[in-house]
Amino acid sequence: MVAVIVFIFGLLVGSFLNVCIHRLPRNESLAFPGSHCPVCAKAIPPWLNIPVASYLMLRGRCSSCSATISPIYPIVELLTASLGLALHLRYGLTPHFFILALLCAALIVVAFIDLKHQIIPDEISVTGIFVGFSYSLFSTKYLLPATAVGLTISLGTLLLLFGPQLCSVVMGVFRKEAAEPCEESEFRLGEYVKILAVTIPGIVCCVYALLHFPGQNWADSLLGILVGTDVIVLSILLYYLLRRAEGMGGGDIKLLAMLGAFFGWQAIPFIIFVSSLAGSIIGLTVMLVKKEDGKLAIPFGPFLVIGALLHIFYGPQIVGWYFSTWSH
Ligand SMILES: [Zn+2]
Repeated sequence: MVAVIVFIFGLLVGSFLNVCIHRLPRNESLAFPGSHCPVCAKAIPPWLNIPVASYLMLRGRCSSCSATISPIYPIVELLTASLGLALHLRYGLTPHFFILALLCAALIVVAFIDLKHQIIPDEISVTGIFVGFSYSLFSTKYLLPATAVGLTISLGTLLLLFGPQLCSVVMGVFRKEAAEPCEESEFRLGEYVKILAVTIPGIVCCVYALLHFPGQNWADSLLGILVGTDVIVLSILLYYLLRRAEGMGGGDIKLLAMLGAFFGWQAIPFIIFVSSLAGSIIGLTVMLVKKEDGKLAIPFGPFLVIGALLHIFYGPQIVGWYFSTWSH
């Protein structure tokens, strides 16, 4: 019975995620105006706004102008509900269920926005970094005075890394501007070197803290943020050296940092492995089908999301198995 409620609630959440996917990249308010057809702008009445059912009833067409409604809408609703149900079956109605459900919802929005617009909104990734890190504080077993010092250092590092973006996210809640046209960004070597300069001392501090006080979840989380950041920064630099082009963007950096914040550093190798594998398979397939060579802009965000989702359901077992085979 609870499972049915979770599924139906998941459909409703999915319906809200569709609004986020549609409006976040356009910098539109999430609440006003209410649901309307993007083609004829006619308001959609509540009885025609039932997740999945309305889409099937209307056979994928707007009721007033009969423009085609994208199948993405019911797909997002079903995906959200199924993930919610799977999490519920695994964790019951525990705090872990709620935090992972929240994370999954955020990841669905990120994946579909990145697929369509090749951007990952800071509203989600930067907020996610802080939510993930804060959650690790609650699940930390004990806080020694020494780790309190470490905590101060790590919060300082976080603010140095993501402070400006966090400010703009907080400010963005209060004022909404018209969407600015995407400017073509040139390669910013200095920015990436600066990021490395901030993160590497942080990594050293975290490793030191973990070696001396094992079981500190906040240090796992912070190390996840820093290592996640550097993995993408280093691959951007490497790709630039090899091909004189930017392979990934700043959005991917913040997305992997967010995943590191939630799962800890232990998850990074798994997520990178799965997402690169999925990315290569899909990239090669698309290249073969379209018969285009090399230069093909496929966003990496959706593959990081696939890696993260697999990690939620199978990661801890695989990572645990990996580390136990190493220690024996
Ligand atoms: Zn219409």
